[in-house]
Amino acid sequence: MTLRTSIATVCLSGTLSDKLRAAAEAGFDGVEVFEPDLVASPSSPEEIAALAHRLGLTLDLYQPFRDAEGVTEDLFVDVLRRARAKFELMGRLGIDTMLVCSNAGTATIDDDEVSADQLRRLGDLAAGHGVRLAYEALAWGRHVDDYRRAWRIVELADHPAVGTCIDSFHILSRGHDPAAIEQIPGDKIFFLQLADAPALTMDVLSWSRHHRLFPGEGSFDLGTFLGHVLRAGYQGPLSLEVFNDTFRQTDVLRTAQQAKRSLTWLEDQVARRAVDVRRPDRPDVLPDTGQPTSIDFVEVKAEDAGPVDVLLGQLGFTFRGRHRSKPVRLWTQGKARVVCNEQQARDWAPTLSAVGFEVADPAASARRAVALEAPSVFRRSLAGEMDLSAFSAPDGTEIFLSPAATTDPPWAQEFEDGEEDARLPLLTGVDHVNLAQPWQRFDEAVLFYSSVLALQSDSSQEVAAPNGLVRSHVVRSHDCGVRLALNVAPLAFDAAGFPQHVAFSTSDVLAVARRARERGLRPLPIPDNYYDDLLARFALPAAAVAEMAELGVMYDRDATGEFTHFYTETLGGVFFEVVQRVDYQGYGAANASVRLAAQHRRSRRLAD
Ligand code: MG
Ligand code: MG
Repeated sequence: MTLRTSIATVCLSGTLSDKLRAAAEAGFDGVEVFEPDLVASPSSPEEIAALAHRLGLTLDLYQPFRDAEGVTEDLFVDVLRRARAKFELMGRLGIDTMLVCSNAGTATIDDDEVSADQLRRLGDLAAGHGVRLAYEALAWGRHVDDYRRAWRIVELADHPAVGTCIDSFHILSRGHDPAAIEQIPGDKIFFLQLADAPALTMDVLSWSRHHRLFPGEGSFDLGTFLGHVLRAGYQGPLSLEVFNDTFRQTDVLRTAQQAKRSLTWLEDQVARRAVDVRRPDRPDVLPDTGQPTSIDFVEVKAEDAGPVDVLLGQLGFTFRGRHRSKPVRLWTQGKARVVCNEQQARDWAPTLSAVGFEVADPAASARRAVALEAPSVFRRSLAGEMDLSAFSAPDGTEIFLSPAATTDPPWAQEFEDGEEDARLPLLTGVDHVNLAQPWQRFDEAVLFYSSVLALQSDSSQEVAAPNGLVRSHVVRSHDCGVRLALNVAPLAFDAAGFPQHVAFSTSDVLAVARRARERGLRPLPIPDNYYDDLLARFALPAAAVAEMAELGVMYDRDATGEFTHFYTETLGGVFFEVVQRVDYQGYGAANASVRLAAQHRRSRRLAD
């Protein structure tokens, strides 16, 4: 038995019928009907019920019913009148559970006995219509804003038709300890709503209405949270209730699929922690793949990748040859491998098109990706050639799954007539890859990379560029063998035009920069003001800073370590970075805005 899944119609764009169709197609078992969606629909309640039935969806909850308790008796007369109309409507829809929010508007009486008495009388009326009430503490309820108090009131009401609704946002946004959920009898938790959110400091109502996210996209610990709810014995659906300005306008089916992926990931998190005591022998939801150990290769696709070949040669890469059956070339240095792909690349400026990840068991990783509904990518390959599993990320990047290799990966045997690998490479591997995301796909991308590749969500940054603020979020493996920086492209770039980069690691960045300079590389020009500031910020020797300035090398230092790095110029939509880390965990965010400004000046000069 798996848990039933549900989604509130408010999560999705479109009309109520669009939302129902998308929820069904994405594989949800049911939906919560958000009242404004129904009120605005031209379909009758019976037609909506019939559509849901045809689609195989249950209608799990009618929501919300506001301002029901803590009111004066003359106001309560009107509460009962409104409720009666809604219970009759629910009968026409075939819905048996209604969400009742704690009063945020009309409450004047701050007294648990009064709220409990009014909920009990509402429960009597509901029971007569075959309806149950799930009472939820809103984080901004006037008097009741804590789930523990909402539960006390439900206990006091002591009515079989009155239970509670647990909503992760209302609890975690207030920093309330969710552990006490386990003290609520599972059969009195009538409903569970799940939402993640980014860590923000703002009023909780605006945070809730605009910034909720699907599980795995924000910073709440929903695995632990759901564990508490399941240990309480909750048996109802896992339902998503996500108010988000972006998801209200993105493609409805795509958002529904993203939502479904988030629940699959969350169920797996819970199964993995073995907190679901009802089914201790429950198998993992997703194959246990571990995390990728390193980046196997990056691929640059271009109609003419010649300029990329030149740049790689300047950076000290060895040309390893041409692929035996495709217009594809391989360059390597240490464990850094770049594939230049001119196949089916007509009119393509150089673009970072694919990233290969070394995984312990490619078949298991592929099964995990399929279970998370990652779209497969097929590439033509000939008999005797390696056929790596590949999936398309939300930004269009193709993700390849490669077997871990200690030396050359097996697929490298398909390249011929190249040189031997240099014996003493200065570059050792790929430190991080920076992928641009269209603004509306950013949260989806965080979820995709962290769930499909089992990576963990890390730090977020905002970096000022001349044409916009670049939001950046890192997902990585525990040991940092794989680091991906996901950046939101400012509007000034069309989605595909924001340059992406690959950062190679080295233990001697100045030697790489000097050798590259001798071979004709022009590093991205960094202004003198930057180096004046560097001298002011850090007590570095003037001669060392002068050499950095000469080579376009940048520097950062924090409490734990040092970071020294430089950038190449941009070719089409891709550039390279070379980084040297000494006990440093960041990405040189302080330098990124200088880099973005330099690239901005450069692109304008090239356009003139
Ligand atoms: Mg809610
Ligand atoms: Mg970087």
